[in-house]
Amino acid sequence: MVDGPTQVTWCPLCRRGEYCPDNERLMKQNTEINADLLAALKDFIDNETCRHDHHGYCQTHGYLQEGVCHMVRARAAIKRAEGK
Ligand SMILES: [Zn+2]
Ligand SMILES: [Zn+2]
Repeated sequence: MVDGPTQVTWCPLCRRGEYCPDNERLMKQNTEINADLLAALKDFIDNETCRHDHHGYCQTHGYLQEGVCHMVRARAAIKRAEGK
């Protein structure tokens, strides 16, 4: 599969292994949505260090619930989206 086409040849919508305009439209839409989300997320993140209180909540970013701070997850998501 070195010289194969880069287009998706199997459509998850109609479940057939041929070119599908609906699928292509969906892929293009998803690409645009991803770009919007990535741009918004990049504006959202900062370089501040997380500071956890005795509950484990991040005070720096106002993440006042259990689990990984949304800032940490946002940075990871951006790295992943950019293939880093
Ligand atoms: Zn299809
Ligand atoms: Zn944080």
